Amino acid sequence: MLTQNLGYPRIGSQRQLKKACENYWAGKINLDELNQAANAIRDENWQTQLDAGIDLIPCNDYSFYDHVLDMSLSLGVIPQRYMPVTEVEGNTETDLYFAMARGYQRDGLDITAMEMTKWLDTNYHYIVPEFAANQQFKIRSEKIFDEYTAAQQILGAKAKPVLIGPVTYLLSGKEKEEGFERIDLIKNLVPVYIEIINRLKQQGATWMQLDEPYLTLDLSKKDKEAFEYAYRAIGGAIGGVKLLVATYFEALLDNAPLALNLPIAALHVDLVRAPEQLDEVLALSPETLQLSIGVVDGRNVWKNDYERSLRHINKAVEKLGADRVIIAPSCSLLHSPIDLDLETVIDPEIKNWMAFAKQKLNEVAELKQIAEGNNNVLLDANKQAIASRRTSLKVHKQAVKDRVAAITEADAARKSAFPVRQQLHRERFQLQAFPTTTIGSFPQTDDIRQLRAKFKKGDLTLEQYEQAIEQATVESIRWQEEIGLDVLVHGEFERNDMVEYFGEQLDGFLFTKNGWVQSYGSRCVKPPVIYGDVSRPADMTVRWSKFAAAQTYKPMKGMLTGPVTILQWSFVRDDQPREVTTNQIALAIRDEVVALEQAGIGIIQIDEAAIREGLPLRKAKRPHYLDWAVKAFRITAGGVEDKTQVHTHMCYSEFNDIIEHIAAMDADVITIETSRSQMELLQAFAHFEYPNEIGPGVYDIHSPRVPSTAEMVSLLTKAASLLPAQNLWVNPDCGLKTRKWPETKAALENMVEAARQAREQI
Ligand code: GLN
Ligand code: ZN
Repeated sequence: MLTQNLGYPRIGSQRQLKKACENYWAGKINLDELNQAANAIRDENWQTQLDAGIDLIPCNDYSFYDHVLDMSLSLGVIPQRYMPVTEVEGNTETDLYFAMARGYQRDGLDITAMEMTKWLDTNYHYIVPEFAANQQFKIRSEKIFDEYTAAQQILGAKAKPVLIGPVTYLLSGKEKEEGFERIDLIKNLVPVYIEIINRLKQQGATWMQLDEPYLTLDLSKKDKEAFEYAYRAIGGAIGGVKLLVATYFEALLDNAPLALNLPIAALHVDLVRAPEQLDEVLALSPETLQLSIGVVDGRNVWKNDYERSLRHINKAVEKLGADRVIIAPSCSLLHSPIDLDLETVIDPEIKNWMAFAKQKLNEVAELKQIAEGNNNVLLDANKQAIASRRTSLKVHKQAVKDRVAAITEADAARKSAFPVRQQLHRERFQLQAFPTTTIGSFPQTDDIRQLRAKFKKGDLTLEQYEQAIEQATVESIRWQEEIGLDVLVHGEFERNDMVEYFGEQLDGFLFTKNGWVQSYGSRCVKPPVIYGDVSRPADMTVRWSKFAAAQTYKPMKGMLTGPVTILQWSFVRDDQPREVTTNQIALAIRDEVVALEQAGIGIIQIDEAAIREGLPLRKAKRPHYLDWAVKAFRITAGGVEDKTQVHTHMCYSEFNDIIEHIAAMDADVITIETSRSQMELLQAFAHFEYPNEIGPGVYDIHSPRVPSTAEMVSLLTKAASLLPAQNLWVNPDCGLKTRKWPETKAALENMVEAARQAREQI
């Protein structure tokens, strides 16, 4: 039996890579120093995996910024517009690389960055490859080969080069011109893969990992043929190298016969996300195929349940024989935080239920030991940890479970239908047509951040801190009144982050010191960990909303984060369905909504920025998810009187295929991001004849650019041609926390003026 790893976090346990890259971009260190910093992390990662006793260790998974971008550079897939960067004297390939990742604005050039998007259903963002109709591929960089040489020195024969597989590489990119399908490029692409693999073979590689997670998605006939074609061609041309194809994040399902019959040495399947596929995979495995079973969760922070994993391992060994079984994490550990040992303040009882990337490697190695030789000491220790989590009162709160079990349909509905509520809101708030508002946050200036930092360090008393936040809040309210906004916000100055702020106040959440995960490039996130039943010990936002409402006669919106977004941006319990955890959060937020209502807040916004992000990869699984996600939102909104107006907000998303579910949320008002698409995203609402009120964003908050009044009037005119004007609100695309005050003020003044003109013209 072998063990392997599919990929390792590259940012370094202290985020050294982030610092090195940012210093390089700022011109504070040179390329040699950047390489030194990066190689140090990479070599340490290899050593860690070697020390853990892993048999096949990935190389070329390391990257300055993004491994998909690395692949594009290796294959010469470089959009023409970046070529001038290579002509600037003194520039290297690395400068070209970062120009593609981040844009290039110097030496008289002004080139925007390439598009970035989420890697499947993870929060890791990759740089989307751009293909031309006559796209040619050729080996352009030595990175793959250099990485292998470096890996050999530390790992010897255990070094296993990793590439994104050819079909997944093509499918994760996009066509830059009309008239062709990128999957048809497979014939041009495969010869380069063969050349790469043969060169690695000459260097001494015996194993090769090709990542093809697209084998777990809904594939077209053409996509399937591309898989057949690519692997027949590669398999026939690289004799002597063992090809391992890695699938993850979903089950193979209808692609199982295809995947299992590729002419490859080994296939990796994800048994954490999709344990149910093991039986079929075993039944369909051809005689010579080795099966890598991903039993240790690469996407979460929990200790592996050895008994459960051993059931999978033993079943596979029984069917295939030990020499055909490889034990592995479910996917690359890129998506896990790095080292639990660095966490010094987590409650030791809870820490004993957790594992980060480094610990997960040990789990893989231990599982092999136990499977091979009955190492009962290791198994017993694991059983004890798992059992204590199963029964601990830190996790399990009967009152919370009972309340979730007792949720009724009525809990998930407002008292009356929307038209009745709308009438009540019109009478109550007396808003003019095209009412103006903002999405919640105002600029988080350095001053505001420093306040929080000082308060955390103890340099400010609670009283001093709150006084300063009050002052910022009052100033923003005065200013909103002055420019004539209709529905005001308090500005969210007291919040660090829209999930963390709530997680810190809810029971069942914990926060790590170093649990960073790469989001994109040098950007890392530190998601909260939901470890136990969630409840709300006290009011969370009432103090600030009440304070703000008392400063003005205008309506003040209360501001909350919705349950799906809190779930989606956290590490979630793996001992109960996500749906149950979401309902627990939904009940907590519902209580907060009711508390705000009781405090006199008449308009309450529940942000569900991430509802689309949670969509399952396979279409067949989406209806079930959407049902519970929408219901969770309705539970949060279902406790208030008809006279209370509930808003929701969603960031940029495609609404076409989920519009009926968005409508089913039944928010009185939804604000969405639409300005960059020139209101294109509103089409879905128009086709559906969306009945409730809606605020399509009229300006892009992602850039400091100040939009003109005329532009916004024209967007509003367009919106009014698609939807009833009396249902339209006027607002920016999203919150303004990342902006500076000068552009925020100028843009909102223009926006209020645009609404005024719209009232006259439309
Ligand atoms: N209310 C939040 C804000 O204004 C919403 C942020 C978001 O949608 N990402 O910052
Ligand atoms: Zn948003």
